Order: sequence, then structure tokens, then C-alpha cells
Amino acid sequence: MRNYYTAIQFWSYSLLVVCLCPLSVILGSHMGWPLGVTPLLLLAPVVVLAAISSPRICYWTITALAVGSCFAEIFFRTDTSEGNPAYLLSIMSAAVIIGLTLLIDVYIEKLNGKLSQVSTQNDELVRQLYESQKEPTPDFQKTVSQRDSNELQQNDSAENPEAEMGVNYPLLLLTLQDIGRRISTNQSNESLIPTVVSTAKASLQCEYCQVYLWDSKTRALKNALPARSRDKLDYRPVHNSGVAAWVIENRQIVMRNDAEQDYQLKRILEEDPHMPDAIAPLTVGSELIGLMIIDKVDVESPTTGRLLYILSNIYALGIKNSQLFKRIEEMASRDGLTGLYNHATFQEKLQEMVKSANNQSTSLSLVMSDIDHFKSFNDTYGHQAGDFVLKEVARIWNTVMPENAILARYGGEEFIGVLVDHEYSQAMQIAEDLRETLENCPMLFEGQQLQVTASFGVTELNHPASTTNELVKVADEYLYKAKESGRNQVAGLVPNSARKPST
Ligand code: GH3
Ligand code: MG
Ligand code: MG
Repeated sequence: MRNYYTAIQFWSYSLLVVCLCPLSVILGSHMGWPLGVTPLLLLAPVVVLAAISSPRICYWTITALAVGSCFAEIFFRTDTSEGNPAYLLSIMSAAVIIGLTLLIDVYIEKLNGKLSQVSTQNDELVRQLYESQKEPTPDFQKTVSQRDSNELQQNDSAENPEAEMGVNYPLLLLTLQDIGRRISTNQSNESLIPTVVSTAKASLQCEYCQVYLWDSKTRALKNALPARSRDKLDYRPVHNSGVAAWVIENRQIVMRNDAEQDYQLKRILEEDPHMPDAIAPLTVGSELIGLMIIDKVDVESPTTGRLLYILSNIYALGIKNSQLFKRIEEMASRDGLTGLYNHATFQEKLQEMVKSANNQSTSLSLVMSDIDHFKSFNDTYGHQAGDFVLKEVARIWNTVMPENAILARYGGEEFIGVLVDHEYSQAMQIAEDLRETLENCPMLFEGQQLQVTASFGVTELNHPASTTNELVKVADEYLYKAKESGRNQVAGLVPNSARKPST
């Protein structure tokens, strides 16, 4: 909704309609045209344009504006007399404008339906083609090589060595297209990794596939899937020994059968006798993203190694993308200074939590606080010291608040926390603990001992605030009361919970 209203198209069409309204009145009077004709002539094209190019809510709003202007003409035209039968024309013009919009609306709806049908059919066709190419592969290749072996050897193999090696290009291309499509539509690693595993197993026709993610900070390999949803494979790659270490070091795929014939790898294989059929590095440029472990695959097929090489590159890109996406999402939702949620994310989370608390009839409390005399603190110690204090306050909130609380920096030096499944008295106690911890926590910044206090307002859902806005408003009112009563105290529903500042 908000996006629609802020859309440039919407505002330009609305502006056009609003500007054309007085013009239609003046033009109508000047030309002496019957009522309704001028708005129809001037406004219908704008409405049609809006209906074709804007989201539904926009063009219906513009239609309403245009219809309104047909009736506005009746009141503002200076050349109309009482009981003018042309009154009817105005209604008809409005009806024509609504009719036009309705027609386009129905047409666009039908067109969208058709488009999504075509896209589904297309997807289905690709899938069928993919399946039909995938299933008969070994037999197909065998048959082809038996039937035309002489021909193939004489013709194809001379020109195209891949044909001799049995690479099924249609299958390869369809597999890649399918995988690329699936991976580009997955954005979180939680749903991406199962896709990686299932597409790898389907295209490599292997029995086992596991993905390990590489943490460059701790230099550790961690299975990307929880134990219950991963393939049961009794092999765990170790980053500093065996074949996995070699793969990490050299960023190259190792196939077990190749390793057995390689002088250097043979020795490593002796250290790591349970190595599965293949280990592939997942890399983007020089960065290691993880490892892919493949077992029970047709190691003799030349396609396996090639496909594994191509797939591991695509998967690495997909995983890297989703990791970046997650990081950007996380950065966008947090406050840069304190690391707590920012105002916008807090509002979203509060909405969700209020909804679920109402549905499940659980309790929800809000603790809001504002640092006392922070302006003069900044004036005395400087803004850098102020920033340091804000970070320290956020740290204290993280320590004192329960783990499931949602914490945010509401504004400059205002912090807010949502507590679920806590009685109101517990929320008051937590706010009191926060107040006390802050008061008794001297902070050392560049050799200076700093200390701040804060005031708190605590409110609870449905006592009396029932919406997110009311919750924040009531908490803010209590906070104001705490400030008024001398600061460094907690104010809330329970009157005697306000503490006097300790001196
Ligand atoms: P009161 O006890 O009534 O709350 O007094 P106050 O001086 O704290 O008043 P108010 O809450 O209006 O002051 C907000 C001050 O917080 C103003 C500004 O200097 C400071 N502030 C806001 N954001 C930041 C920030 O990111 N860093 C620093 N250092 N100071 C900030
Ligand atoms: Mg403030
Ligand atoms: Mg303040």
C-alpha cells in the first residue's frame, strides 16, 4: 500500500487529475459544453493510462478522483442553471470513466492469468524435457554406442572427442538451466542447501551428497544441514588433514579413482582411507565457501568430473549470494552504532509480536528508556564519549534483558525492549535491574570515568494499550512521568514501582 502511494506514477497521475479538474470547469464554462463532457474528455485518458500502467490501488484512486471531478463540475460551473438536465450527463461521464477502468481491470486480470499459465507451462515443459533426458541416459548412451559404435568412432570421435567420451550435452544444459533457475530463486541458505543437495544428486546420479561450509575466521568446516536432514555418510572432512586439507589448499576436485593413481595423492589417501568418491571445493574467485562431498557416483564416467566442476562453481556462487543477502538484510535491520535493531525493524517485529500475543493470549510488555541529561553529557565529555556510552548501554541491555527479548535503539539515546511471556511485575523488575545496573556501572573512556543514568517507562499489552502505537505511546507517557518525577527511575502501571534516585 505504502509503496503504491509513494510510486512516482501515482503521484504524477494524481497531480495531472487534480490540475485538470479546474481546467475542465473553466473549459466547460467557456465552451458552453454540457456538464460532464469536459471532465470526460480531459480525465478519461489519464485514467486509462493509470489503469494500464499502475498498480490496482493507484488507478482506482485516480478513477475516484476523476469521477469526483465530474460531480465537482456541477457545483463549480458558472454557466449552469438549476435543474439542468445535463446533470445526467455528468453521471454518465462518471459511469463511463468507471466502466473504462473496470474493463481494463478485467482485461489485465485475464492477461496476468494467461501469463502465469504460460510461465507454468514453460516450467513444466522444461522439467519434462529434463526428466526425459535424465532417465534414459545410461541406456541411451549404451544403445547409441552399441548401435552406431563404428559410425561414431569413424565420424564423431574424429571431430568431437566428447561424443566418444559419452557427454550428454542436452542433459548437461538442461541440468544447468534447471539448477541455475532453482538456485537464483532461493535466497536463504536454509532452503538453498537442500536444493543444492537434491539437484547435485539428480544430475550426478549419486547416492550421497553433503555440503560443508567453511568458516574462514575459525578455520572450521561445518555441515550445512542439521543431522536429521542430511545424507547418512560416515565421513567427516577435516580441514587440516587428509584429502579435505589437500582440496582446501589446492582448490581442486579430488576423485577417489584419480587419487589412487596419483603419486602424491595416493599417500594422502592412505592417511584418509575412507575418502568418498569425490570431494569438490566450493569457491568464488579465491575465496573458499565450503566443500561438497559426493559418494556412490559413476566415477568412470567422464561427465561426472566435468559436471561436478561446473556444479560446484554454480553452487558456490549461489551460496555466496545467499550469505551476502543475509548479511545485507542483517545490516539493514540493525543500528550501526549499538548493533541493536533499528527503529523500522523494531516496528515490524513489534507488530508481529503483538499479533501473536493476541492470538495466543500471552503477555507482552514494553520497556522504554531515555538517558538522563544526555545533551549536557555530550557537551561536557564530547560526542565520542557519548557514542561510547550508547554502546555500553546497549551492552547492558543485552546482558540484563532475557534472551528472547527484542531490543532496539528507538531513537538517539532512547532504547526499547519487548518482553514476551513475562508478567507485568517481572517487566517492571527487569526495568529496575536495568536502571540499577546502569547507575552502578562506571564506564572508562580514554582514561575518564563516565557515568550515566536513565529513566524508564513500562507498559503492558491490553492494559490499556491494545495496538503497537498505543503501547509505545503509553510507555512514552510513563517515561515522561519518570523524567518529571526526578529521572533515574522506573514508572509504570503499578504506582509505587517508581523508585527515587539513590544519591
Ligand atoms: P532528558 O533527561 O530530558 O532526556 O535530557 P536530554 O539532554 O537527554 O534530552 P534529550 O533526550 O532530548 O537529548 C537527546 C540528546 O541525545 C541530544 C543529542 O546530543 C544526544 N544524542 C542523540 N543521538 C546521539 C548519538 O548518536 N550520539 C551521541 N553522542 N549523542 C546523541
Ligand atoms: Mg531523548
Ligand atoms: Mg535524554
